[in-house]
Amino acid sequence: MDRVVVVGAGISGLAAARALAAAGRSVLVLERARGVGGRCATRRIDGDQRVDFGVAFLHGREPEFLAALAEVPGAALPGWPSVILGGGRPCQPDAFAEGEQRLAFVDGVAAFPRHLARGLDVRTDARVTGLATSGDTIGLSIEGAMPLVARTVILALAVEQARDLIAGLGGRAPGLATASALLTMMASTPCLTLIAAYPEGVPGPAFHVSYPEDSRILQAISHDSSKRVSPAATVMVYQAHARWSREHLDPTIEGRFSESTDGWARALLAEAARLLGPWAGAPSSFQAHRWRYARTDRSAELGAPILLHLPGDGAPGPRLGLAGELFAPGGGVESAWMSGTRLARMILAEDRR
Ligand SMILES: Cc1cc2nc3c(=O)[nH]c(=O)nc-3n(C[C@H](O)[C@H](O)[C@H](O)COP(=O)(O)OP(=O)(O)OC[C@H]3O[C@@H](n4cnc5c(N)ncnc54)[C@H](O)[C@@H]3O)c2cc1C
Repeated sequence: MDRVVVVGAGISGLAAARALAAAGRSVLVLERARGVGGRCATRRIDGDQRVDFGVAFLHGREPEFLAALAEVPGAALPGWPSVILGGGRPCQPDAFAEGEQRLAFVDGVAAFPRHLARGLDVRTDARVTGLATSGDTIGLSIEGAMPLVARTVILALAVEQARDLIAGLGGRAPGLATASALLTMMASTPCLTLIAAYPEGVPGPAFHVSYPEDSRILQAISHDSSKRVSPAATVMVYQAHARWSREHLDPTIEGRFSESTDGWARALLAEAARLLGPWAGAPSSFQAHRWRYARTDRSAELGAPILLHLPGDGAPGPRLGLAGELFAPGGGVESAWMSGTRLARMILAEDRR
């Protein structure tokens, strides 16, 4: 049976790859970053302290998704966040709806994608730069590496990233043209994020997460160190509102700490000081992160993943699958996982016929 190539090792790509591999299929995952997880992201700062700087906690209600979370090894913090301050709008209001379960991990949310990736063939530092159909396969160009071909390719990316790659395929297949048009109408919202570590002795907040109702700058404040066992420092993660992020996102500077980054980072700290007290404006160190595609706009979501057949030399032709948080209702990590799992099932069902 042909190998399936999955582009993107976020939750959706890993969920798809896991379900395919569990059914005995050969799968290769290509990920442009150094590690897996995408927006389900944890990094280490000041030595060894872990910080969640994308999604701060996981939540959902689908039994299958909750079962997948329950398999993650390591200490979980069920119910986190339980101490909430402020009546502002959460990043994902569904997270606090009745029946929704929430949890975090002491080792960071990235424990989940790391667990999903175990045993899979994942190639990191492998950015796919282009797709082209050739005969009954799709060719993938990879930055700094030999190209690959596969009959089935899954794009498990933010909508803008998927759209860019699909554009290279041209609009030959009617389904592809429709999918491209659909994706053009979807958008992700950005989120400027600041990780701030504080010197010993700061008062530190009593909440887990705050959603300030009177700030046009800060949407969410996560007391990240409250998730860690014996944290070396008080660490806060500040997430800016989408609109404010858009206004301050500099499209010309990618991933560099620049003067303009310094500007917005300091604005976030000043706002944190206004909301939490002077201590919050004076961290011992801070790191900025620009999430250009943080979340799917709630007005832009589809009910299911997409599986397209492209014209090839003969039937059935190469296949292109689309998964990601956009391709299941609700958005967020649960939707990403559901869409990847469902897409894998669609592929397996088709191959059984
Ligand atoms: C600040 C922030 C707060 C959030 N808050 C919440 C929340 O409260 N609740 C919630 O449920 N969700 C939240 N989310 C959203 C959640 O994290 C995402 O919905 C989910 O992780 C998306 O998973 P994905 O697999 O669809 O995409 P991604 O995680 O984006 O995975 C895509 C992967 O593809 C890789 N990639 C991109 N282009 C290429 C390429 N050309 N070649 C190879 N690899 C490529 C990327 O590096 C990435 O690893 C938040 C996200 C952020 C950033």
